[in-house]
Amino acid sequence: MDFDVVIVGGGLAGLSLAVALKRSRLSIGLVEARAPVQPEGWDARIYAVSPANARFLDEIGAWGHLDAARMSPVHTMEVYGDAGGRLDFSAYDAGVGELAWIVESSLMQRELWETAKRQGNVTLLCPGVPRRLTFAEDAATLTLADGRELTSRLIVAADGADSWTREAAGIEVTFKPYEQHGVVANFATARPHREVACQWFRHDGVLAYLPLPGNLISIVWSTPADHAAELLALSPEAFCDRVADAGGRRLGALSPVTPPAGFPLRLMRAPCAVAPRLALIGDAAHAIHPLSGHGINLGFQDARALAEVLLERPDHVDCGDVAWLRRYERARREEVVALQSVTDGLQRLFALPGQPFSSLRNLGLNFTHRLPVVKDLLVRYAMG
Ligand SMILES: Cc1cc2nc3c(=O)[nH]c(=O)nc-3n(C[C@H](O)[C@H](O)[C@H](O)COP(=O)(O)OP(=O)(O)OC[C@H]3O[C@@H](n4cnc5c(N)ncnc54)[C@H](O)[C@@H]3O)c2cc1C
Repeated sequence: MDFDVVIVGGGLAGLSLAVALKRSRLSIGLVEARAPVQPEGWDARIYAVSPANARFLDEIGAWGHLDAARMSPVHTMEVYGDAGGRLDFSAYDAGVGELAWIVESSLMQRELWETAKRQGNVTLLCPGVPRRLTFAEDAATLTLADGRELTSRLIVAADGADSWTREAAGIEVTFKPYEQHGVVANFATARPHREVACQWFRHDGVLAYLPLPGNLISIVWSTPADHAAELLALSPEAFCDRVADAGGRRLGALSPVTPPAGFPLRLMRAPCAVAPRLALIGDAAHAIHPLSGHGINLGFQDARALAEVLLERPDHVDCGDVAWLRRYERARREEVVALQSVTDGLQRLFALPGQPFSSLRNLGLNFTHRLPVVKDLLVRYAMG
């Protein structure tokens, strides 16, 4: 089979790129090992989608089809330090409708998957697992485990942080494990959350409460691996108590909606985002600590930027031409490097033990809280 673009990985980054290329004349193959499934009840993997990415999903025709009854806006965000520091952000003060949207990963993935399925220029190759990748002057060839051979002018690696495609292309990345796990779970709360997201920088990591519709919340607790293992081993009642206590019982008692799950956290940096006939997007290009909730936001912006570069390409330019693809790399470098550095720095600052560091970081939060101009800048940056 012959394509202009083959995307390996049908996660949110790969799928949103395929859908964003709808109005191009490019023929697209999308290789994915497993079709998305609808979890029973609520998905434990929940994302804070920035307004810029809600706009991007709207522009490509996906946002309006998401079930509004399963999403919640964030109107206020409260950040607490580990020794009395506090920083608040509000959509009202910033003059915007909402600071973010809290959405299930599977809700977006299924919508994008169904859209891609109906799209005339996309061929879904699922289940599809790549086995061999070779590059020649005029095309790349991807051989799947079932023997199918795909030739393409451009290969897009969208197959996550452990990307097979990136490795097969010989791009070496650096991983820095945080020795922390992200523990995620959903709860019903006794008191209303009023669409407020909270984040606590604690001695045992960073805990976030994210509002879901009604009286539901989702949490991400980024915490040392041994503490995460201890949390995951608790009975459902004891786990609810622990999470409610860690959040100062601000929403009263919690009851379980999904069992907790844990994921190892790491920083991953790639030396480049493009090579001849290759582009990396999403977690295949970068992985960051979830404390800023920006992982998939970066992935969506990669997809948006790469689609734009491919759509703007004059007819005589090959879509795998690395000189042209560098426009995509340049468009994304600054934001990726800045967010990786800021989240890594924050994570390290709050992991430093001892009273002087604790006073300093809490002073920093309180100081920022009193500077409306700086706060406004932070809100606008986070919203994209
Ligand atoms: C605990 C935790 C909490 C997080 N919270 C947030 C948050 O609040 N906000 C946020 O923005 N981000 C968050 N993230 C990050 C977010 O999960 C990732 O950034 C996002 O999933 C990356 O999307 P992706 O499409 O690039 O990759 P993935 O989601 O990893 O998708 C890759 C796809 O490729 C497929 N694939 C992989 N290998 C192959 C192969 N060899 N052959 C065929 N198919 C393959 C997979 O099946 C998958 O569908 C969090 C991450 C963690 C661990």
